Amino acid sequence: MQSRQGFLPSLDCDTSVPVLVTGATGYIAGWLVRRLLEMGFTVHAAVRNPGLANRMAHFERMRRELPGTLQFFQADLLERGSYTRAMKGCRVVFHTASPMRLAVRDPQRELIQPTIEGTQNVLESANSIDDVQRVVVTSSVAAACGDSADIAKLPGQVLNEEAWNHTSTHKHQPYPYSKTQAERTAWEIAEAQDRWRLVTLNPGLVLGPCVTDHIPEAYSFSLMKKFADGTMKAGVPPYEVGMVDVRDVAEAHLRAGFMPGAEGRHLIFRDVKSLIDVSAVLHAQFESHRPFPRRVLPKWLLWLVGPRTDRAFTRHVVRRNMKHPWRADNSKSRRALGMRYRATEQAITDMFAQMIERGVV
Ligand code: NAP
Repeated sequence: MQSRQGFLPSLDCDTSVPVLVTGATGYIAGWLVRRLLEMGFTVHAAVRNPGLANRMAHFERMRRELPGTLQFFQADLLERGSYTRAMKGCRVVFHTASPMRLAVRDPQRELIQPTIEGTQNVLESANSIDDVQRVVVTSSVAAACGDSADIAKLPGQVLNEEAWNHTSTHKHQPYPYSKTQAERTAWEIAEAQDRWRLVTLNPGLVLGPCVTDHIPEAYSFSLMKKFADGTMKAGVPPYEVGMVDVRDVAEAHLRAGFMPGAEGRHLIFRDVKSLIDVSAVLHAQFESHRPFPRRVLPKWLLWLVGPRTDRAFTRHVVRRNMKHPWRADNSKSRRALGMRYRATEQAITDMFAQMIERGVV
């Protein structure tokens, strides 16, 4: 199938059959909806608040400019059965919706319950709708590894699709815990039936521009803002992780949804970068805009003052994540999904340029 953006290898995509995207207002989902509309699909977009005009403006533009058809459905992760109507007639379901925040007051209510119950709700609807043949769940590398220190205990000290996060809990790393339990739930529900196939994507830190008219509140943007708003003026934490361009994450969803042989879990990232690497790219590209952090903070200092500056930065988080190498293998995504990743530097540059243009940094 020839899409406007390029050739997608051997994708089984019959554009006359609608597809569902949950959490369509999200940062990643925005690019996915756009690509599906470019390909000519009818996209059932499940959103929590269809009445919020400022969150929906970009969809009107897509509707005018792209060949596909967009239909909205109100749904909430916490309302049982609320995705069923949106799923009717859909062969492929892309389940991207889940709250993504690291610092929360009430992890159970704000993260764990909506993420796990939401996944259950969406997959129970898939069980009840005969049209569904494939469900793609947007999981996270956090479902494979909760703390960077865990990687040292893996075979070859490299993270791959075999690994599961065993160290996160309600109290320690609640967001990784929510993603782990939700993905486990998804596999349990999928393995109890044989009509539809589950494929999960486990992206690293997602960077790159948004398709929305407003800059989203997504975690990726709040992190990038910290490089410019003075939060990190003393220096950046000694932290590294796999990073990936949001446009490639959308591409991975298409491949997971439509490649006949796609199966299992997939770590999705281009390469491993540290926060000081990100700062160096910003410094090289936007030096005249403002100074960016040039120092890496010592781990002992973060251990001492971290908990006072950020609720998510507990001493346990600092001990198990700062100054630990993050090594992982993305070869399954390249081999099985045929992913060719854009340079992370491009994701950083395009994202920050958009943030300057929109006046948020
Ligand atoms: P995002 O922009 O915050 O999108 C999250 C989406 O989930 C939004 O559409 C949001 O709807 C929806 N949502 C949250 N709570 C909901 C609820 N109770 N009912 C219905 N919808 C709800 O974040 P994102 O970065 O695009 O993340 C999308 C997915 O990718 C998530 O599953 C996240 O865990 C995963 N992921 C993200 C990254 C990353 O670096 N960004 C990395 C790995 C995995 P509203 O617009 O109404 O709030």
